[in-house]
Amino acid sequence: MGLLYRCSSCEKEMVLESYHQGRSVPCPWCGGDEDVPQRLDFETVYAARARDETRGRTLLAIAVASLLLACLPASAVVWWMAAGSISMAREEQREADPLLLNARVIAAVGTVIHALVWVGFAVMRIT
Ligand SMILES: [Zn+2]
Repeated sequence: MGLLYRCSSCEKEMVLESYHQGRSVPCPWCGGDEDVPQRLDFETVYAARARDETRGRTLLAIAVASLLLACLPASAVVWWMAAGSISMAREEQREADPLLLNARVIAAVGTVIHALVWVGFAVMRIT
């Protein structure tokens, strides 16, 4: 979960950690050697990563709880918040935290299931 860095040969993204700075790193996609600059802002990346991990843990717990308790609004809010954090990480050229990714999936599943159940109840009331 480090900094996303675009390969100059194949344009695909690779993940760099602070120990890669100033070194030549082989691209995992094309195998080409990529010279990593000496100065990359890993302090900000690692601080943001710690923040995302805490947030991901909380959102994952809420996503699982709302799935089990059939709480549609909570699932929808967690889905929205996790998606926001994931896109922010991408914008800041960081890998998204796996906890956030899992929270988003569980919240999305919970939202869809609960929405279908609500629609089912609504249809049963009408007919
Ligand atoms: Zn490459």
